[in-house]
Amino acid sequence: MINCFLIDIEGTIVKDKSYTPVEGAVQWLKKVKTRGKKFSLVSNNTTHSPKRLLGLLRSKGFELEEDNLDTCMNNTNEWLRQHKIKSCFVIGNQGLKNYLGKEGIKIKKDGLIQAVVVGLDEKINYQKLQTAVKVLVEKDACLVALHYNKVFKNSRGEIAPSVGCIVKALEYASAKRAYVLGKPSKDFYRSVLWRLKVKPRNCIFISDDPLTDLAGAKKLKIKTAFVLSGKYDRSILKNMKVKPDFVYRKISDIKV
Ligand SMILES: [Mg+2]
Repeated sequence: MINCFLIDIEGTIVKDKSYTPVEGAVQWLKKVKTRGKKFSLVSNNTTHSPKRLLGLLRSKGFELEEDNLDTCMNNTNEWLRQHKIKSCFVIGNQGLKNYLGKEGIKIKKDGLIQAVVVGLDEKINYQKLQTAVKVLVEKDACLVALHYNKVFKNSRGEIAPSVGCIVKALEYASAKRAYVLGKPSKDFYRSVLWRLKVKPRNCIFISDDPLTDLAGAKKLKIKTAFVLSGKYDRSILKNMKVKPDFVYRKISDIKV
């Protein structure tokens, strides 16, 4: 029996980085709440702090509490704390830098740097890549990826390269493997299940990304639903060995 919904945000409940709700998504989530089912929005957003993201979604009509959100940003912060990392070079937008700064991380370009942290940076350039590679190679910093997604839909609704593309370039240059802390990291998924006190077999993961979000969920035996309201259409499934359990046009087509 399904009693818990794990839900992606972009492409699943909102259309893209403009955060316009997908048709029927606000009412659908309301129904989940009134039926007393557990849910969490499990997000790879790297541009808004969890608090800002919650505020933004509420302003679009979604009724959400603080414990309805798990993001790769707070998972990354937790990981840095556990590994006693206090100084980082960050590739990402100002939102990520401000968030980590408030959490006590020193954001630096030179001197002692323990990690290179990578989120979405739509202003990525050669200079930033070079600084990151120098830090990784010369200072033996570790490489921390907020996630490993291939593409995303930007605020103009266009497909664009995502965080994984930057991470991959840095892995290649430094010959290091990144620690991936957002979806589809098993540890991240497990921490969400543990927090919600639910078993994988009682959960369904709903997302527009079968390659990362849902493939990762399947590995933990969580049921999976692919929605066509986001960055991929049905043709993405052609070359996938392990396909999602269900395909829906949009989230509100899923029975609560
Ligand atoms: Mg998505």
